[in-house]
Amino acid sequence: MSGNAILKAMIETYQNDFMCGYTDEDKEELRLIFLELIVEVTRYVNNYRYCNKTDCPCSPERSIAVLVKRHEKEINKIFAGGFGLSEVPLGVIRQFLNEFKTYDQLEK
Ligand SMILES: [Zn+2]
Repeated sequence: MSGNAILKAMIETYQNDFMCGYTDEDKEELRLIFLELIVEVTRYVNNYRYCNKTDCPCSPERSIAVLVKRHEKEINKIFAGGFGLSEVPLGVIRQFLNEFKTYDQLEK
């Protein structure tokens, strides 16, 4: 599945499943993490870069890796379950994000 299809599904999940359906008290905290993820996946898909190194701290790959590692629990909550309202299964989105973990050379 293309990064663009994943990005579309993430935005649909944010605007529909999450904004309309999520009601727990940590919603605002999760919302900010979700938005940061959307920004970095947008950079990755459109190749918006400040330098050419994919493992540089400024790269979208590295930024996604850091978010996924630092907020693993929150991201699993955001994309909980198998299916949302988007036609892309939530598990496919989680898998896409987890593949970036290898770009992060820092200790966990
Ligand atoms: Zn850089």
